[in-house]
Amino acid sequence: MQEVKQPNKKPFIYYYVIALLVIFLINCLLVPKVAQRAIREVDYGTFMEMTYNQEIGYVQIEDNQILFTDKDETAIYKTGLVYDPDLTQRLYDNGAKFSGQIVEEMSPVLSILISWILPMLLFAALGQFMYRQMSKKAGGGANSMMFGLGKSNAKVYVQSSDGIKFSDVAGEDEAKENLAEIVDYLHNPEKYKEIGASMPKGILLVGPPGTGKTMLAKAVAGEANVPFFSMSGSEFVEMFVGMGASKVRDLFSQAKEKAPCIVFIDEIDAIGKKRDGQVGGNDEREQTLNQLLTEMDGFEGNNGVIILAATNRPESLDPALLRPGRFDRRVPVELPDLKGREEILKVHARKIRVADDVDFNKIARMASGASGAELANIINEAALRAVRDGRKFATQADLEESIEVVIAGYQKKNAILTDKEKHIVAYHEIGHALVAARQSNSAPVQKITIVPRTSGALGYTMQVEEGNHYLMSKEEIENKIATYTGGRAAEEIVFGSVTTGASNDIEQATKLARSMITRYGMSKDFDMVAMEAVTNQYLGGDSSLTCSMETQTAIDREVVELVKRQHEKAGQILLENREKLDELANFLYEKETITGEEFMEILNG
Ligand code: ADP
Repeated sequence: MQEVKQPNKKPFIYYYVIALLVIFLINCLLVPKVAQRAIREVDYGTFMEMTYNQEIGYVQIEDNQILFTDKDETAIYKTGLVYDPDLTQRLYDNGAKFSGQIVEEMSPVLSILISWILPMLLFAALGQFMYRQMSKKAGGGANSMMFGLGKSNAKVYVQSSDGIKFSDVAGEDEAKENLAEIVDYLHNPEKYKEIGASMPKGILLVGPPGTGKTMLAKAVAGEANVPFFSMSGSEFVEMFVGMGASKVRDLFSQAKEKAPCIVFIDEIDAIGKKRDGQVGGNDEREQTLNQLLTEMDGFEGNNGVIILAATNRPESLDPALLRPGRFDRRVPVELPDLKGREEILKVHARKIRVADDVDFNKIARMASGASGAELANIINEAALRAVRDGRKFATQADLEESIEVVIAGYQKKNAILTDKEKHIVAYHEIGHALVAARQSNSAPVQKITIVPRTSGALGYTMQVEEGNHYLMSKEEIENKIATYTGGRAAEEIVFGSVTTGASNDIEQATKLARSMITRYGMSKDFDMVAMEAVTNQYLGGDSSLTCSMETQTAIDREVVELVKRQHEKAGQILLENREKLDELANFLYEKETITGEEFMEILNG
């Protein structure tokens, strides 16, 4: 989508270490060699001989050695000391001159060259090399990032957004309506200027992952036919303080040149997190955020740069980022409802070949709670399955199977359950389905299977919602809890013992029961008081308790009571339908997978 030049992988420190190593080696090996190159070691006899032959030029008598040169001073010699009281006189008589600086005098220029000039040259060359590397990285500009003056190294300009239009984004009608105004403004800014209305500078798209936020931003650019600048929040965060800020500056200066245009910052929470004011906090991130705030203040409302940002953690954003004049408009991009899911499936099904009789509505009902990205994945899985089976198009069965693949993983081909285990799983699943079916408010069963899946599920009961549910009554939630406990209840009734197979049911039932008490005000004692705050709405909905220890104990007690009551109710339902339970479980045991219709036929038969 966006062309980013790969930064040079080797850090600068790498080059410095090499340079230091080279200098070290020069000093260790080369300097002594050069300094001593002319010194030749000879024995004392040779020295005496040269003295007598009057071949000595300068001589220097040291504590432990004698240094001397020949007459022409072309070479230096060295010899050890021998007790020789007449040496000085003899040398003098033979015309030697006495000196104290033989070695130093030999190569002053050379030694300066080696120990000072050479390292300097080396560093200069290294600097030049890195400068050129940096310039190349910065897109040919003469900026050196090394000294913090850099431009962004990412090439942010991308030509109009892969041609994505609003029609490619299915569902999300409210979000599209909201953004259509932006498109209209980009087409026709005069209309708005006349009245004096100014467009919001920043629009925040919030919602769970995979709901089409990036797509929507691209579609705005595509519809308005303007350039689209896209960067992810994490791309701004760099190792060196100030680099991220300079990237922000660069991005905005490019955007202003190309206005009108859309700037899209994905995962803005990477830079827009609340500043916590801690000493030694993340300076780089805060500087980047400050720069972003400044840039957003810096341009006038109507210059045609519209900033879209996406996040799934809106609660973690800095309030300064959300104030009017910055990201003051918030567009929720929620998980698609039934109609939305159906449309998304249809949009993606256009890309593959499907059979004519595919019932997208049914698929959409089966895939309740799936995001746009998951639905796209389901369609693709179906196409892959069709290819695997050597068919030319995907069928209803492919699509249904691929929902299960996306939800529960692939079928485990070689998981061998023992006969006893298979019986238990069959009773367990029928337990769920029977309890669900006998409680009038529960959604009908779509499919029950005891084929093990790669997700670890040994079987499951798929329920299908008839339509959209926006509200759930207390009774409905209680029935749901009873349905979760139905599997375990069947095991108890039939086998008189329990297994580990109910762990996921237990988790779900407890979660629901706890939410009833702490968040939905459906408890006996706590009336409409919130005991829990949801901290992470779009990412799994983590919550934290906001009550005293005593209350927590009371909540725990009430949760247990609630689940227990529903467990007993489920057991009661199964006891009343014991014959049907056996009949259905045996049927499932034989067939491994049964449909909702088959189930209802036996139940009502
Ligand atoms: P987000 O940015 O919200 O995490 P994306 O926009 O990157 O999600 O969507 C990921 C993929 O999911 C898209 O490439 C697209 O194939 C699919 N998708 C998500 N929502 C929709 C939608 N409303 N209509 C069509 N496709 C969608």
